[in-house]
Amino acid sequence: MLNIILFGPPGAGKGTQSNKIIEKYNITHLSTGDVFRYNMKNDTELGQLAKSYIDKGELVPDEVTNNMVKDFLERNENSNGFIFDGYPRTIAQGEALDKMLIEMGTSVSMLVALEVDEDELVKRLLERGKTSGRVDDQDEETIRNRFKVYQDETSPLAVYYSKQDKYVGVHGMGSIDEIFDRIYHAIDSKSNDVSEEE
Ligand code: AMP
Repeated sequence: MLNIILFGPPGAGKGTQSNKIIEKYNITHLSTGDVFRYNMKNDTELGQLAKSYIDKGELVPDEVTNNMVKDFLERNENSNGFIFDGYPRTIAQGEALDKMLIEMGTSVSMLVALEVDEDELVKRLLERGKTSGRVDDQDEETIRNRFKVYQDETSPLAVYYSKQDKYVGVHGMGSIDEIFDRIYHAIDSKSNDVSEEE
């Protein structure tokens, strides 16, 4: 199985690039943000709980998020692999994901990190907020809070996966196609490294 974590701060283009990756590699996309938004739209219990965190730019608690991911993986156990978009976002989530994948007889293949300039991202997010309808994209203070949460809680995952020799950095500025080109070269070359070691 090819299990890729697509990593990067809010607005780095993870959703856009995930859609291109699933087409090329025929793997299943899990965006935890999309699942939360779907639940918010349908006003489920999970959606109501998530909304209280998301609208402030805070993280939904690990346990809630991990249970949702576990449920998703169980429903898609016959997949060729997964692209994790916006998950894991804390070390505790990374550890939980590792455990869930071990139970499925597989593991994280690599973490592909989109490396981008933060000021540019705030601009992109405010622009996206004009059309996305996302409350968390419309207010600069909420956006800044999402970056702070990313710095404090999410960025340590880069070290966590570097230690396992699974970190691959990709320059995330440029056109969608240019960035995708770099991503798939990075994926192919990392997959080759791993299969040569085996
Ligand atoms: P995203 O669409 O990935 O930018 O996520 C939007 C919001 O959903 C985040 O700011 C968090 O409030 C919440 N969220 C998404 N994924 C996670 C996660 N893995 N852990 C906790 N909260 C999450």
